Amino acid sequence: MPRALIAGNWKMHKTVAETVDFVRGLKQRLSGVSDRDVLVAPPFTSLHAAVMEARGSSIGIAAQNMHWEAKGAYTGEISAGMLTDAGCTHVIIGHSERRRLFGETDDQINLKIMAGLQAGLKIIFCIGETLEEREAQQTFTVIKTQLNQGLKNIPMGDISRVSVAYEPVWAIGTGKTATPGQAEDAHAFIRTELGRMYPGQSAAETCILYGGSVTPENIKGLMAEPDVNGALVGGASLDLESFLKIIRFEFKQRF
Ligand code: PEP
Repeated sequence: MPRALIAGNWKMHKTVAETVDFVRGLKQRLSGVSDRDVLVAPPFTSLHAAVMEARGSSIGIAAQNMHWEAKGAYTGEISAGMLTDAGCTHVIIGHSERRRLFGETDDQINLKIMAGLQAGLKIIFCIGETLEEREAQQTFTVIKTQLNQGLKNIPMGDISRVSVAYEPVWAIGTGKTATPGQAEDAHAFIRTELGRMYPGQSAAETCILYGGSVTPENIKGLMAEPDVNGALVGGASLDLESFLKIIRFEFKQRF
């Protein structure tokens, strides 16, 4: 069974000072919690400050995006090496907002995953269907394609550093959470597909996160499903108290 992971995606929120305050509070209030992984993904400008504040704790710091090239004339972009240099442990790749608002393709996402792994980062690889795709009964086809394209040529030896985040686009920032049953159906499908792509134990050990309007109120039901190993939390991770409730609630119920 994979180790549980609760990850906060802050998107374009929080200044450096706000980040430092949050990470300081999280570090203090998390002491004693050692049986799950916790990470936050601040904006680029706050990454190094977050890393510095998290020192001495097990809190991971993730970037929300990166470019696949190591360096060069790519104005406005950040490389994987720059993220490890800043002290990041993880990077989120393929978030639906990147796909939808910035036109990221499955091929670009694949290049990013390869470059992130090569630099030593752990990857949170986001996939998920839109409402139209779900209504057209295309959920499994869409997530299968995203998985296969995104992980193309990623060797078996690297897959242990990839977590998959199932984030139905219709549930992100909308307050409409997938039911635990809908989440489990998708997660079980993802695990089966990973098992086909990576025969052996890897799929059983892959951490599959659910993301989409996770709150302190619905985390219990989601985490009770056998293939839900954690959560990628957007809005509810911005407030320390609500993020802690999500982390701790799961702690009391399952451990
Ligand atoms: C996200 O952006 O990854 C996300 C899941 O957002 P929210 O929790 O706000 O729906």
